[in-house]
Amino acid sequence: MGCAHTGRNAVNGPRYAARCRWLRLTFDEGSSGDLTNRCMHIAREGLRCVGPFLDETETTCGLWEPKTGEGQAT
Ligand code: SF4
Repeated sequence: MGCAHTGRNAVNGPRYAARCRWLRLTFDEGSSGDLTNRCMHIAREGLRCVGPFLDETETTCGLWEPKTGEGQAT
């Protein structure tokens, strides 16, 4: 159930890009083994995640979803 004031799902907690179910850390093609954050969502498949990857900073990405098992009420 979403929050009427923020539009966020209260049980999901902060919307950190690092906790997105669509995020995959992969080796960057064409580079010398650098790792990059790729988005596996069908709308962005293969593109870089919009991030940000900063502590305490939530993403504004409208496609964000929590990883399975995270943000679940216990
Ligand atoms: S671009 Fe959006 S949906 Fe894709 S991994 Fe990043 S936060 Fe998740």
